[in-house]
Amino acid sequence: RTYSDSSSFSKLLVVFTVSGGGLLAYADANSTSPIAPPEIKKKRVVVLGTGWAGTSFLKQLDNPSYDVQVISPRNYFAFTPLLPSVTVGTVEPRSIVEPIRNIVKKKNVDVHYWEAECFKIDSQSKKVHCRSNQNIDGKGKEEFVVDYDYLVIAMGARPNTFNTPGVVEHCNFLKEVEDAQKIRRSVIDAFEKASLPSLSDEERQKMLHFVVVGGGPTGVEFAAELHDFVKEDLVKLYPAAGKYVKITLLEAADHILTMFDKRITEFAEDKFKRDGIDVKLGSMVIKVSDKEISTKARVNGQVATMPYGMVVWSTGIGTDPVVKDFMKQVGQETRRVLATDEWLRVEGTDSIYALGDSGKLTVKELQEVVDDICERYPQVDLYLKTKKLRNIADLLKDDSKSSVEISIEELKAALKEVDAQVKNLPATAQVAAQQGAYLAKCFNRMEEAEKNPEGPLRFRGEGRHRFRPFRYKHFGQFAPLGGEQTAAQLPGDWVSIGHSTQWLWYSVYASKLVSWRTRSLVVTDWVKRFIFGRDSSSI
Ligand code: FAD
Repeated sequence: RTYSDSSSFSKLLVVFTVSGGGLLAYADANSTSPIAPPEIKKKRVVVLGTGWAGTSFLKQLDNPSYDVQVISPRNYFAFTPLLPSVTVGTVEPRSIVEPIRNIVKKKNVDVHYWEAECFKIDSQSKKVHCRSNQNIDGKGKEEFVVDYDYLVIAMGARPNTFNTPGVVEHCNFLKEVEDAQKIRRSVIDAFEKASLPSLSDEERQKMLHFVVVGGGPTGVEFAAELHDFVKEDLVKLYPAAGKYVKITLLEAADHILTMFDKRITEFAEDKFKRDGIDVKLGSMVIKVSDKEISTKARVNGQVATMPYGMVVWSTGIGTDPVVKDFMKQVGQETRRVLATDEWLRVEGTDSIYALGDSGKLTVKELQEVVDDICERYPQVDLYLKTKKLRNIADLLKDDSKSSVEISIEELKAALKEVDAQVKNLPATAQVAAQQGAYLAKCFNRMEEAEKNPEGPLRFRGEGRHRFRPFRYKHFGQFAPLGGEQTAAQLPGDWVSIGHSTQWLWYSVYASKLVSWRTRSLVVTDWVKRFIFGRDSSSI
């Protein structure tokens, strides 16, 4: 089936409209009747994904001149920063999700949601091929094709396994709500199994050995949540099991939380040591079997093997296969991630945008800009040739300056800013949400900006860009470390660690939740946990 345009429907529909006080009825949009209005076909925007980027785009889009089709296998938005809390029951899964239909229903824009996954993007014929989630009457999952005028790829990313043998088969990931629910059940099952009478001490030890791979914010937060769950709830309910529990955190780099300030890294490592979480640094996982996990020490190449009860794999993200296939179509097959320009448009296309974890702002065209500048201003040649600077074009064309006035110092300052903007954009909800909001604003003002472009002057060609480029604003980052302590790195490299920061974390996350419904549910969960502890049933 192809959902290509609405003209076939228009023949069936009788449209009533008020025009100049009179009521006109149109039975057929293709009729030759003199009163038939010209058919205005809305531009179709197809959005792939209902995560941070896709939802933020949909929430901010308010231009009714689009026909928006949303395709995602998930008919809800999930507040991922609270997923580690779901793994141990600090927060319930339903408290952190909001049905996508709730999010789009109030809009004045035509938005249709299809519960399906896109399995192929055909950029030549501007179509996306989709497969429904539902198995209808045993006929299998329905496949259909949707046309687009604009495509917004906001499909997130896959967990990165680095092709380590056995990871997919034996490890748990922590990416989706279902993953968190599965981990919660596995932890409780491990305690139940370890409490059975016929087991040896060795078997109990193995069962209650929880291994976390990856010392980034997610791995660290999960290890901390698990430690709290065990210490505050499970050891009271399974008193005999307490002495067998072990949590190991494996990190290939020399430190955990390397993206944070050194003070936070040190505090986290010390705290985990005090808590008895075994942090093994410089430890690369090379293989996972159904019973054991093998690591190789980075310093001396020594291989070690340890039995485990459960492994949670959290080592970052990789590109989705659908996006990989699409990258081939647009000449980006040699890249690791889908590259976009500063307007979030996929390089090599004119109507496809990539947001959030799916795309990566790049500096590819920079080289062309740099080459041009070097040709025109040989004195900056040496400096620029070795550097990456894209916005230099904007700088040189700044209305208030003539190009020759630009000094090396200014170039350096611009380079620094662009480096911060472009190279270091992390794969976070913050980036994804800001990109979604930025793109929606561009779509809201598309017609206006065609007439009155507001962007910088084009380096190549005449006139201005339609929009100002995307600029990321960093509002800081949290690292919850358990025991009601959190570390925060706020703008200006302001670092705050401890119990008071935990309260800041509670208030920021409560305020960021997507609706009053989820906000009240999460706050209630937190209060319930304080009063009654976490629920340890394995349902
Ligand atoms: P996602 O939010 O992952 O959304 C992708 C969407 O695409 C989903 O709806 C998915 O169902 C859909 N999709 C997937 N495949 C297809 C397909 N084939 N066709 C159509 N749709 C598809 N960031 C922070 O800033 N702060 C935090 O504290 C934080 N904590 C995190 C904790 C965890 C456990 C995790 C996993 C991530 C955390 N992040 C955090 C990172 C943040 O969640 C991601 O950067 C963010 O979700 C990226 O948004 P996105 O819209 O690109 O992708």
